[in-house]
Amino acid sequence: MDRARRRKFGQNFLDVPTAMLIAGDLPAADGDAVLEIGPGHGALTEHLLDRNIELTAVEIDEQCVEFLQNKFKGKSNFNIVNLDFLQFDLQAFLNAHDKPWVTGNLPYNVSTAIIAELMPRLHMTKGFMGMVQLEVAERICAEPCSSNYGSLSVLVSAYANTQILREIGPEHFTPKPNVDSATMLLTPRENPLLAPADFFDFVRSAFTQKRKTLANSFGAGYNKKQVQAAIEALDWPTTIRAEELSPEKFLELYNVMKPE
Ligand code: SAM
Repeated sequence: MDRARRRKFGQNFLDVPTAMLIAGDLPAADGDAVLEIGPGHGALTEHLLDRNIELTAVEIDEQCVEFLQNKFKGKSNFNIVNLDFLQFDLQAFLNAHDKPWVTGNLPYNVSTAIIAELMPRLHMTKGFMGMVQLEVAERICAEPCSSNYGSLSVLVSAYANTQILREIGPEHFTPKPNVDSATMLLTPRENPLLAPADFFDFVRSAFTQKRKTLANSFGAGYNKKQVQAAIEALDWPTTIRAEELSPEKFLELYNVMKPE
């Protein structure tokens, strides 16, 4: 056991019964391509490979990669790439595969970066079913006007229908993490938001002082008068808060505040 390695790569390995349950939740059909992020020692992979799917796994840790190459030597539907997922050419993979499923028990230190990378391309997949820290899943799946709703919820719900599937306690991992986990299903929205590149920076800024009214909640780069004028132009109540705005409403605000 290499503790430093496990911490560095966010390695908490699932027990067999839980891995089996979670793998069973992936709605992949016969012949589907599946992209697994962070297979580790193959807890989920093993159960997925029993199905008639074509699986590509991306794993950063070369020790895990070597282990899996041995473990799944005879499996012709198993491919593995030894890479940091954030360096992986996701676009090229999606171009080469017809609507794959994306899955994985994500390393917690980079889970939001991975989700952010995936969302604008979610329409090229059948969806994501996988695990993150419970608190992150709650933020991702939060509805407007709820306490967990924030910029991450806006980012994801701009592209995805979201659902928490299972809550998983620390006792199901080795080593035990200090946090609870959850699996979630993110499927592509029929009408994803067509947002410009800097839209989500704008949304993040709007949540800087989340408890205040929208006119006062923006971070640096936006002044109160500018926001007040936009709220007035949109005929919204002056008391409106960022947490009340759906992705569509945010886009309306963006379009008024950032004219071409
Ligand atoms: N899937 C295994 C399981 O459920 O038992 C392992 C899950 S563990 C929480 C996260 C896995 O992601 C580890 O195997 C770790 O080495 C790998 N990992 C960490 N950072 C990564 C990255 N940036 N790109 C790809 N894999 C990564």
